Amino acid sequence: MPWRRGLPCGIASDAAGLTEKPDYATGVELAARTVTYQLAETFVISRDSSDESESVVVELRHAGETGFGEGTPIDRYEEDAGAAAEFLNDCGELLGDDPFALDETLAALPAAPHTQAARAALDHALHDLCGKLTGLPVWRLLGLRREGPPTCWTVWLGDPDGMARRAEGAAPRFRRLKLKLGGRDGLDLERVRAVRSVTDVPLQVDVNEYWSVDEAIEALPQLAGVGVEYCEQPLPAGDPGGAQVKAASPIPIYVDEDCHTLADVAACAERAHGINIKLSKSGGIREAVRMAHAARALGLGVMLGCMTESGLGISAGVQIASLCDFVDLDGNLLLLDDPWPGVEFRDGVQLHSDAPGLGVKAREAISDPR
Ligand SMILES: [Mg+2]
Repeated sequence: MPWRRGLPCGIASDAAGLTEKPDYATGVELAARTVTYQLAETFVISRDSSDESESVVVELRHAGETGFGEGTPIDRYEEDAGAAAEFLNDCGELLGDDPFALDETLAALPAAPHTQAARAALDHALHDLCGKLTGLPVWRLLGLRREGPPTCWTVWLGDPDGMARRAEGAAPRFRRLKLKLGGRDGLDLERVRAVRSVTDVPLQVDVNEYWSVDEAIEALPQLAGVGVEYCEQPLPAGDPGGAQVKAASPIPIYVDEDCHTLADVAACAERAHGINIKLSKSGGIREAVRMAHAARALGLGVMLGCMTESGLGISAGVQIASLCDFVDLDGNLLLLDDPWPGVEFRDGVQLHSDAPGLGVKAREAISDPR
């Protein structure tokens, strides 16, 4: 993994006044690599199943501090970790010498498609670095609250009895459950009823694009009848029946696959009551904050989701969770072994550790390839 150093941009960084650490003119050095995590159990949704997850991890060095960030490429959007690491390692010379210049640095990246996870990893590493340089948690740098809503626990798609069994096992630790639906076997409502019969924990469902307009219009009132709070992405992204389903639904519709970046938010208001922001779709914290505010201006609800990723990726979501109505930040809890401890799971809420930056630390030292 070669280290790439940003070329000094010739502008003195006024960030130097924030710490006593010297050497601000040395540029920001970047190295990116892929990592693979084993899941605690096979994770099944409507379109695929997986036993492991791949991410890209960025390490930035500047003025004696090191910032880390993780992004998780999403197959659905034709992204993969190897390409993400390659993209980032090619961007090293664009980083300049001021890690606080996030707008300038992120705008300097090439406009290549399928690079959202890579952008997220860099955005997160810059936030982590800025937090460590100032001695502040990222949520404080952003002027936000430490605590967001409780995270849901995701019950992966299976037969109704199996989902009920897993839901019953998880329910004591969590204050809400998210059920993956879209089995295309006529059993989706039975799945919800089976889970409802074993727990009173609030339920939400995610169909991952696997219902037609007719199926959605038939199923949504029945979901309301068993107390489901909201339904995520019932239709394929871009389905022309979105507005019709929104109008017919007695419970809120949230869109995930329909909503990636700020540019998508306004159109989502026509087909949904809320958006699911994920940092590996948005390209990181900075764009996610813009999306949350745009959604509020349009009267939309805001949910924050995640992928199966380590505590490093989840810690970035934790920083902005307080901007959201609903939070799904269970990705690190789905791993067999989280190599980035630090996010505190307390009474159903994923919390920042209070350490500077993103507040997590690798369990094993990251090798220094220089
Ligand atoms: Mg979803």
